[in-house]
Amino acid sequence: MEVLLRLLLPRFVRRLWTSGSVGRNKELVDRLQQYGIIKSKRVKEVMEAIDRGHFVPPGSTPYVDSPMAIGYNATISAPHMHAACLELLADHLQPGMKALDVGSGTGYLTACFAMMVGPEGLAVGVEHIPELVEFSTNNIRNSAAASFLNEGSLSLNVGDGRLGWPEQAPYDAIHVGAAAHEIPQMLIDQLKPGGRLVIPVGSVFQDLQVVDKNMDGSVNIRTEASVRYVPLTSKAAQLHNH
Ligand code: SAH
Repeated sequence: MEVLLRLLLPRFVRRLWTSGSVGRNKELVDRLQQYGIIKSKRVKEVMEAIDRGHFVPPGSTPYVDSPMAIGYNATISAPHMHAACLELLADHLQPGMKALDVGSGTGYLTACFAMMVGPEGLAVGVEHIPELVEFSTNNIRNSAAASFLNEGSLSLNVGDGRLGWPEQAPYDAIHVGAAAHEIPQMLIDQLKPGGRLVIPVGSVFQDLQVVDKNMDGSVNIRTEASVRYVPLTSKAAQLHNH
């Protein structure tokens, strides 16, 4: 097995597998910074604080840069995608701001958002699979973001994220962790003027789109990267063949 691993895995990945958990998370974050994906101190600090090891199912390998199955035809996004989305949203995740995470899955990004906006801010996750909401709640309870959940500045909700989460709207930052055929108007409506929405758009191959709302309510949309996410869809369609 060891020999096979040596042959198959680059040295950096093997190193991630053989050191302690906190150290391994830090090594993953350091590597993302070396690759230029993490650019800012704030994103580095939050990804160091929120240990990916608390967000993957038991027995999986949290510290490799790849997406991973979490059941229910869903995945935890790859660390480089988490980092890229945090960088794109960082200016809209200042202390006291409000953030919405649609398709919150494991809760990893919701936890990062809560850390960045702090106790005076608000981070809201919406996920349509109740079991994943329970999973994410447990994950966050074990993480450095637990106090935000207990004190109410982080909430995880069961719902159809295509409708956003109107109760707490408008938001400074909205992240969508699943690919939409087109940008849901309700999400644009729930964005504050000056706010930013990051959303993958498309079917098999998708564009990660960045939507900035201007002060007059108009929006500018640009494509940041080509990506692959699971679809933003109905619960029945997602669980078909599950
Ligand atoms: N950022 C998350 C991504 C999870 S994968 C993470 O890294 O853990 C995308 C998630 O979107 C899945 O959990 C899926 O169940 C959820 N999803 C898909 N369509 C949805 C919808 N209409 N409403 C809410 N959640 C949805």
